[in-house]
Amino acid sequence: MNQIKRRTFMLHAVAAGATLTCSGLALAGPTKVDEADPKAASLGYRNDSSQVDKKRFPKHGAGEKCSGCMAWLGKPSDAWAECDLMVDKLVANAGWCSSFVKLKG
Ligand code: SF4
Repeated sequence: MNQIKRRTFMLHAVAAGATLTCSGLALAGPTKVDEADPKAASLGYRNDSSQVDKKRFPKHGAGEKCSGCMAWLGKPSDAWAECDLMVDKLVANAGWCSSFVKLKG
């Protein structure tokens, strides 16, 4: 009888651990991109479009920002959102990178 209780307890403990692990994974979503991240840096990404290096990126236009880019996956009002280009990262609404493509419409 004690063996059955012990086995049941162990099964519950394993199930609880698995649930906590899955919960942790679900909560661990994308994080804000670091401007120093190699990919972000190679694209000249800045969290603030007004801080873009104009000499390095002369085609950067005033008013261009991530929330107006075709790759932006958030709502226009989101402060941070995922982007098709920066996988598993969040980019700033007011951010910009050299792959900017103006959203139509
Ligand atoms: S691809 Fe567009 S949304 Fe993504 S970082 Fe560059 S400008 Fe922002």
